[in-house]
Amino acid sequence: MATSDQVTRTGAEPVAGPRLRPALEGLPAYRPGRSRAGAIKLSSNESPYGPLPGVVERAARALQDANRYPDIASTALAEALAALHGVSRDEVVVGCGSVTLCQQIVNAVAGPGDEVAYCWRSFEAYPILVTVAGASSVQVPLVQEAYDPAGLLASLSERTRLVFVCNPNNPTGTALRRDQLLELLDGIPADCLVVLDEAYREYVADPEVPDGSDLRAGRPNVALLRTFSKAYGLAGLRVGYCVAGPEVATAIRRTQVPFGVSTVGQAAALASLEASAEMERRVAEVVAERRRVRDALVGLGYPVPPSEANFVWLALGQRAAEFASGCEARGIIVRPFAGDGVRVTIGSPAENDAFLAAAADLAR
Ligand SMILES: *Cc1c(COP(=O)(O)O)cnc(C)c1O
Repeated sequence: MATSDQVTRTGAEPVAGPRLRPALEGLPAYRPGRSRAGAIKLSSNESPYGPLPGVVERAARALQDANRYPDIASTALAEALAALHGVSRDEVVVGCGSVTLCQQIVNAVAGPGDEVAYCWRSFEAYPILVTVAGASSVQVPLVQEAYDPAGLLASLSERTRLVFVCNPNNPTGTALRRDQLLELLDGIPADCLVVLDEAYREYVADPEVPDGSDLRAGRPNVALLRTFSKAYGLAGLRVGYCVAGPEVATAIRRTQVPFGVSTVGQAAALASLEASAEMERRVAEVVAERRRVRDALVGLGYPVPPSEANFVWLALGQRAAEFASGCEARGIIVRPFAGDGVRVTIGSPAENDAFLAAAADLAR
């Protein structure tokens, strides 16, 4: 049966391309942090260290099974993560990086006509994933570079299905404290899912910033997202996970593309968990460097909010692009967000020194 939008083509007509979804028009592409051979890359919030001790060996061993499909449920890893968070195994969903889990979550709760709320600027993937799902983004401006609980609450409507809370926030590094988070969580209706995206949790030094794990009790609409890409140094292997109530977790599993997490990724993540003491030692170095870098930048006159993550934010407004190209001319790749600011990942002490020298130069 011909439907109204089918067209009959004759050989003489120019052949149009396949029809694409209108929702994709104007969709910004995710822009990865740039890199350049020989330059210092401080643009993607990666760990400056290699994988943790023992990880490469375990990953190499797992490669020998590369002819077999991976364990679709990442069973051994999910069990270890459940023990770590004190939850049951069915409350843990392992995914191909936590950004893929963000997508699974959006697809599980929101479609055309639904709204997803989050502050902006925040993680660049959120607007893309919401648009691809056919849902609408409600972006609430940051206040003084930080997430705004009252603004978010005021933005909710009966169509809001999901709220993303990026804590600490990428790219500004600011984090909500316990009282602020509780105000937010208590104001969100129980039928609206809240995702606490804690990609940088390991770097939090302020004891007033709570571990989302501790806030889930009695709140079945709260889910956590964590990743092995940042503090665990496995960005290239794509492993993240979600902790959510059993019903939400089941829904998130339903929206997954099968076999997304490779055998090598599962083995490497499990080995990384076993090396958590060394991970914590490395994190402490990054946190010390973060303080040193921020203090130096503030001393140079740059506006830099306190950061709880492995990067700092220079709130340069219209000067962002110029500062970033100045850094690049000095061999350092940072991440500008035009009109807003520049995000700079904390690297090794030598890399940070090189960045600070460039920043001092550019301050003149
Ligand atoms: C880096 C990052 C992630 C995702 O990382 P994956 O590599 O996909 O696990 C998720 N959320 C935020 C806020 C991030 O900065």
